[in-house]
Amino acid sequence: MNEITFESLGLNETLLSSLRTEGYLEPTPIQAETIPSLLEGRDLLGCAQTGTGKTAAFALPILQRLSLKAAKREPRAVRALIVAPTRELAAQIDASVAAYGRRSNLTRACVYGGVGKVPQVRAIARGVDILVATPGRLLDLHGDGAVRLDRVEIIVLDEADRMLDMGFIHDVKRIIALIPTQRQTVLFSATMADGIKALADTILAEPVRVAVAPEQLTVDLIEQKVMHVEKVNKRSLLVWLLKAESVARAIVFARTKHGANRLAESLTKEGIHSDAIHANKSQSQRTRTMDAFREGRLRVLVATDLAARGIDVEAITHVFNFDLPHEPETYIHRIGRTARAGAAGIAVTLCDADERPLLRAIERLIGQRVPVELDHPYALDVRPGELEDARGNARGGERANRGGRPMGGFPRQPGGGARYGRRDGAPSAERVGSGFGA
Ligand code: AMP
Repeated sequence: MNEITFESLGLNETLLSSLRTEGYLEPTPIQAETIPSLLEGRDLLGCAQTGTGKTAAFALPILQRLSLKAAKREPRAVRALIVAPTRELAAQIDASVAAYGRRSNLTRACVYGGVGKVPQVRAIARGVDILVATPGRLLDLHGDGAVRLDRVEIIVLDEADRMLDMGFIHDVKRIIALIPTQRQTVLFSATMADGIKALADTILAEPVRVAVAPEQLTVDLIEQKVMHVEKVNKRSLLVWLLKAESVARAIVFARTKHGANRLAESLTKEGIHSDAIHANKSQSQRTRTMDAFREGRLRVLVATDLAARGIDVEAITHVFNFDLPHEPETYIHRIGRTARAGAAGIAVTLCDADERPLLRAIERLIGQRVPVELDHPYALDVRPGELEDARGNARGGERANRGGRPMGGFPRQPGGGARYGRRDGAPSAERVGSGFGA
């Protein structure tokens, strides 16, 4: 088994003790590969997505390096800057930093758009060790003179590919231009598209390169099924599926904001309490919904892809693709919301006739057929041959739902064993240090 421990990676006792509190038993592969180089102060280019443990991979070395090197706190100055594409991801990183750094004396703050600036300005007024920020709000605050970036020692760009997709490239470049050239730079991206390579070439100095291939791995842990269904029956099928007791906590993906709203409303009318999260919701609405989902008060979350990106909620038992994504990579991001940190999960895709080409594209990408589930009330009577391969696959594969009941059974455990320790019963992150209002 894995001989590598957090201790052997060079982390100090303060951090080790926080990791014990978190219930992390051993480093994930990305952590094992990343932490020693980052502790040495090297630049790093990491290819990894959410779910691999990448946050701790960069946060732990930052905490250790900053605590080793005492620095005078200067008003509005920042020592380590972590830039993330969305508010949700920024807040999650901040919560992780708080949890891992709970026994350090370091200070932190988190700034993002969509909420008032005043508390954020106040949080950084005396200077902070670690600032997590979305690009737009950071530049906004810098323009106001509320934050100084000329003391930054370490910068992390997290989910850089997403930042590029969202059109933040110019903001990112402006931020880089504002921080000292003498610095440690870390770039994480789920993909290594050309734009990312070009950015990496300009901002990293002799970087260590690490990559984990979580996509196949994640896919392996997830029990996938596709249900062929008429478009008009999709909603009824989803209701039928969600009424199953085994669906303890589920995300339903819809392609559009409007579609997500309508779906959440009609599910609620059917007695399935659900709420939608997407970019048109206010920050306070999104926070409220996410809290309810995380705390188990909301069993079903309907989300668009952008809103769901980076959502890290434990124990999501099911992901339902109500609409198929247009980009096959998105399928992997979506179903990766379940099967977090080595746990297993179930992903069910509802596919109408128009969407079959999208399903084929996904199957080509993941290099496997998604098994067809026929035991449901709205199964399509497809002509022989039409789904020949997929049917063959379904026969040979696992059929979890023989009795015509709603999706029975809890996610099976993966045969190959989890890649890293579970954290069952571990307390969730609490905010420490100098967050807002602290
Ligand atoms: P991330 O990829 O950073 O979003 O992390 C995904 C999830 O894995 C989070 O819930 C972390 O708390 C959890 N996690 C990170 N590192 C470990 C570890 N070494 N052992 C167990 N869980 C971990």
